[in-house]
Amino acid sequence: MERLGGGIMDNCIFCKIINGSIPSDFVYEDEKVVAFKDISPQAPVHILIIPKEHIESVDDIDETNSHIIGHIFEVAAKLANEMGLEKGYRIVNNCKEHGGQSVNHIHFHLLGGRQLLWPAG
Ligand code: AMP
Repeated sequence: MERLGGGIMDNCIFCKIINGSIPSDFVYEDEKVVAFKDISPQAPVHILIIPKEHIESVDDIDETNSHIIGHIFEVAAKLANEMGLEKGYRIVNNCKEHGGQSVNHIHFHLLGGRQLLWPAG
């Protein structure tokens, strides 16, 4: 995979969503992150929040990029509020193969609008 300008990777589907070459249903965008509806929703609200910079997984978080994760949680709380999730919600990150990560561009699922179950499988 080749790194193009602006931290975009050439064969990453989430980088393609960021640059508009794959259409998606955006609900939020700023200079650091975008948020869009998951194509296969698991709850009435299912949003993915991702950094514009291509970071593969939580395993690649370090002191140079950890500020983005704090920002993602700020955006998650703002979106949850706007989407009426006052009863609660869940933020999920799947990391690498055993964590169930299927897209190798770090993303946080914001799920809500129903009673969510625990523990995860
Ligand atoms: P994960 O399994 O944690 O890596 O999550 C990847 C998520 O990306 C899944 O919930 C998919 O439904 C979602 N997804 C894959 N392709 C798209 C797409 N083109 N637009 C929106 N969501 C997508």
